[in-house]
Parts: sequence; C-alpha cells; structure tokens
Amino acid sequence: RVVIGVLALQGAVSEHIKMVTACGVTPRSVKTQADLKGLDGLTIPGGESTTIRKLLVREQMLEPLKKLVQQGFPVFGTCAGLVLLAQPDLLNGLKGTVVRNGFGRQRESFETELTVKGWSKPYHGIFIRAPYLSEVQQPAEALVTLADGRIVAAQQNHVLVTSFHPELTGDTRFHRYFVEKMI
Ligand code: GLN
Repeated sequence: RVVIGVLALQGAVSEHIKMVTACGVTPRSVKTQADLKGLDGLTIPGGESTTIRKLLVREQMLEPLKKLVQQGFPVFGTCAGLVLLAQPDLLNGLKGTVVRNGFGRQRESFETELTVKGWSKPYHGIFIRAPYLSEVQQPAEALVTLADGRIVAAQQNHVLVTSFHPELTGDTRFHRYFVEKMI
C-alpha cells in the first residue's frame, strides 16, 4: 500500500488529497512530525510560503523534512511548495533561483496552456500569485519553460515542483507522474 502525505498546515490541502486519491494511492494529512513516519512521498500545496514555513517551524517539522528530502524522500511542491522546496535556506531540495510572486500585479492570476517536456498534450496551467525559477542547475531539470524563459515546472531526481496548481484542474497527469515515476 502506497501512502502519500499531503502537508496540511495551510493552503489547498483537500484538492491535493482528491488528486492523490484519484491516482489510486492512500492520502494522509500531515500536520505533525509523527505524521511523516512511514510515508512513501509527500505533496506540499500552494498557499502562503511564509505562513507554511512558520507553521513548519512551530510544529518542529522543518528540520526533519529537510533531512528526509536530502535522503531522497519524494516530494511534489506546487506554488508555495515550490518556494519551500527550492529555497536553499528552507528545504533545499532543488537547485535553482526562485522569484517569489514573480508575475507581478498585472498578471497576479492567469491561466495558460503549457508544453511539458516529453508530454504530447498540453497542460492547463493555473497560476495564482505564482513564483517562477529564473534558472535551475544540474541535477535539476526544467520541465516547463515559458516563451520568455521563466521556468514554471522542474524536477531534481525525487523532487518535483510546479509554479502553477495542478490540484485545481481535473487533470491528474502531474500527480500521476509523481506517484508512478518518482515513488
Ligand atoms: N505567493 C505565494 C508564496 O510565495 C504562493 C502563492 C500560491 O501558492 N498560490 O508563498
């Protein structure tokens, strides 16, 4: 039985739980350090990365989670989850430069079709005050790069990040990719 945790401190938690369930694996809400035990992987939802960071510190989960990520534990972060995973002073799971709220006020929220490396059909990207990566370094690899060069999805071995919110679409391909190829 594969059990995937969904970090449930703040943000789009129930949407991730739905996606994980739709992929045929068992979800678990992760609210405390004890909830991290025995998981096969974890998703970190969108929300507010500064709030999630504070709650991770309060629940004494930041260091244990960072250690797990360093040991090869599979984690999928969306939006605020990307910020937490890619910041070297936070979870440090993916080498790259994060630009928070990188699309500015004019384009705070928008939707667009994305071309994903190696996928034949486009993916509908929903961006909400989204971050992006201005560059990634080996072994991290860009999966979606916008026409202007902004990287909005990337992978580094067992770490997957998207600037956009797959959990807000009905398209399970990103969660399936995580569950089927990275666990
Ligand atoms: N702007 C948020 C942050 O930097 C992310 C927004 C989101 O997750 N929708 O934490």
